[in-house]
Amino acid sequence: MRQKLAAGNWKMNGTSATLPELKALADTYGTAGVDVLICPPAALLHRAAEVIDGSAVAVGGQDCHADGAGAHTGDTSAEMLKDAGASSVIVGHSERRTDHNESDAAVCAKAETAMATGLTAIVCLGESLQQRDAGETLEVIGSQLAGSVPEQSTGDSLVIAYEPIWAIGTGKVPTLEQIGEVHGFLRAQLVARFGNEVGAAVRLLYGGSVKPSNATEIFAVEDVDGALVGGASLKATDFAPIIAAL
Ligand code: PGA
Repeated sequence: MRQKLAAGNWKMNGTSATLPELKALADTYGTAGVDVLICPPAALLHRAAEVIDGSAVAVGGQDCHADGAGAHTGDTSAEMLKDAGASSVIVGHSERRTDHNESDAAVCAKAETAMATGLTAIVCLGESLQQRDAGETLEVIGSQLAGSVPEQSTGDSLVIAYEPIWAIGTGKVPTLEQIGEVHGFLRAQLVARFGNEVGAAVRLLYGGSVKPSNATEIFAVEDVDGALVGGASLKATDFAPIIAAL
């Protein structure tokens, strides 16, 4: 039985003034029976970890470098995230793939380092609108999965987030059939590659314009084990009903 997961990605939003939102969330969802994760910007991570200390809410990073340490100005290592209190890290978000030219191989190297450090890697993948319109969605997803997911993945160390690029921050959401098709495909691919046990244990999140009004129907789709939420994770009053819908 896979534990449901609601993961919030604050992206480059939030300051210390946003931390009370996290406190409100931690106070509400201390024992909800689902996993709740917030990924604030790296600069806020340590303070965020202090705010959620003692609650069931966890914090994570939004990216890490593939190297353990070294001359990489501006980057953050997996070890630093862990040291600041993170239990997970998002890798391969489409904004990283686009803004920083991250290839599948680069994402895979980051996920490997994250796992070796003891962090759960939340590997993101998703098709563009052009690829969907051309009927290439499953081909694109299959190749991103093959290239971005490390060989040593386990049910605990890997989470996959399916995020169609055209649904991120746009208010557009795929149909439930489209979400179900991709999640079913991902599950089958994971089972084929890692076997029944690991394949069945990896959690599959949907991401892209999840809000309180559509969360319930999305979570009812088979093989949707939770959500990766951007905009609606910034306010406890938006994120709390999404968690409650799990
Ligand atoms: P959104 O972002 O919920 O604002 O669409 C999702 C994401 O990018 O993870």
